[in-house]
Amino acid sequence: AISVDNVWKEYGDQIVLENVSIEVESRSFIALVGPSGCGKSTFLRMLLGQERPTRGTILLDGQPLPSEPGRDRGVVFQKYSVFPHLTALGNVLVGKELTGSRITGKLFGAARKAAVEEARAMIVDVGLSGAEQKYPAQLSGGMQQRLALAQALLMRPKVLLLDEPFGALDPGIRTEIHQLMKRLWHETPMTVVMVTHDMREAFTLATRVIAFERRRDRPEEKLRYGATITSDIPIWPPRRAGV
Ligand code: ATP
Ligand code: MG
Repeated sequence: AISVDNVWKEYGDQIVLENVSIEVESRSFIALVGPSGCGKSTFLRMLLGQERPTRGTILLDGQPLPSEPGRDRGVVFQKYSVFPHLTALGNVLVGKELTGSRITGKLFGAARKAAVEEARAMIVDVGLSGAEQKYPAQLSGGMQQRLALAQALLMRPKVLLLDEPFGALDPGIRTEIHQLMKRLWHETPMTVVMVTHDMREAFTLATRVIAFERRRDRPEEKLRYGATITSDIPIWPPRRAGV
């Protein structure tokens, strides 16, 4: 579970997030919606450990988040989640390699062979069989996002953080990738937090939809506000994998 308790985030005198508290059940799928600039990406970066709250706490399974993003949290952004100079296979392996050995950051021998097998299987699983040796520039946008998903999933994250991952895809491809996302989430014991502007996507995929919104600042009265949770809509209970 992720426990967010009275979290604030300020940049200088700008309050981005104000008093955000949520308990995210393990294996749930949260869609995070809200107007542009309300702090959704900032919130996701705090869950990733890239940013720290200025007040409040975030716990993952009862433990404080390490300041370094670890392999327990995978992430996919709208764009640029994959490395252009690596093949599809290299991209999927990269997470494993970086976390494979503390000393060299590389995997060797049997460990590497197993990781390559696992990466190949993951590529097939996201519907990219045959693309192992291709570079991102040779893949369509939808294929690149599948690749980014495979890369994040190979790290077997407890929490998958998605920042408008399908926002740039055309509607047909998006529907297709929704089916994939749904299946992956059912089959994998992970919690997903996804930022989206697409309400249909939110209600198709999520078990719970959370909206952030901020009141207008009133500088003349020296009143400034940050965004906070304005609605929290349960869609359906988190399901177990395979159910
Ligand atoms: P969008 O829907 O457009 O992606 P968002 O909800 O993801 O918007 P954020 O990117 O989280 O919004 O930004 C929220 C606010 O925080 C913005 O006003 C932004 O300018 C500010 N902000 C974000 N990161 C920083 C930073 N590193 N330094 C200063 N201000 C920042
Ligand atoms: Mg954003």
